[in-house]
Amino acid sequence: MQFESIAKTLISLTSLFQDNDLQDPSADAQFLISQVTGIPQLELNLHLDRSLSVEESNRIFQYAYRRAQREPFQYIIGECCFWGFDFLLSRDVLIPRKETELLVERIIEENTERRITLLDIGTGSGNIAITIAKLRPDWIVEASDISAAALQIARQNAAHLQAKVTFYESDLLEAISKSYDIIVSNPPYIPLNEYKDLSPEVQGFEPQKALLAVEDGLFYYRKILQNAAVHLRPAGTIYFEIGYNQGERLRELAEEFNYRVVDIYKDYQQFDRIIKLTLIR
Ligand code: GLN
Repeated sequence: MQFESIAKTLISLTSLFQDNDLQDPSADAQFLISQVTGIPQLELNLHLDRSLSVEESNRIFQYAYRRAQREPFQYIIGECCFWGFDFLLSRDVLIPRKETELLVERIIEENTERRITLLDIGTGSGNIAITIAKLRPDWIVEASDISAAALQIARQNAAHLQAKVTFYESDLLEAISKSYDIIVSNPPYIPLNEYKDLSPEVQGFEPQKALLAVEDGLFYYRKILQNAAVHLRPAGTIYFEIGYNQGERLRELAEEFNYRVVDIYKDYQQFDRIIKLTLIR
């Protein structure tokens, strides 16, 4: 049987993706062919005449059909990259975002003592906790999530990346008994009115409970701040990822619960994205 060349497949995928209103049809077509054939995306142009095998072609069109329904590639191939590490993913967990790497970077750069204890609340795929445990093997890194399905993914990730992280199934801090030098969280923070405007990829496929928060997006920050004081060691700090327009409201909330804002950091687009707090004792 004669199978299509890479060139022809690129054209048909691009047009399929275009018809389904994907944001960047040609980039997605290239990504998909590169994933399945193993040819680096930048080298595809050198292999345009190569015919695809039956298996390659079947896989490409299976994946393409799912992508055309707006499923994110990260769920289709079941993994994504965070800080250069490959994380396994399922639809039980949020796809780690670039912005969250900034959160990890702040924590790593600002805390240089050898034996820090850290808790990551709402760990999802485990990306924050596991990356920190990899970069700082001397630290004691723990992580919690309310979802047993998410914890299963996080544990698999810790195992295959050989990171030492202790996981707890816990509604925020409820099942946590220890105290830490650092508490970090990227909790759900999208208010309902903004959620409705998110892309079909996010709304249709990512876990709603990992994204959406009542009280204008502030619900989980409030709950954590209400209960975190007893879990913070003296001079301990809290790092939160926050919504692009939540900086000022987080500042007010922090003060309401007797925290001082140490810093607010901006993301790649110059939006407030990370807040660092410490308890006023
Ligand atoms: N901690 C994970 C992340 O930062 C999951 C966050 C979440 O599910 N809200 O990507």
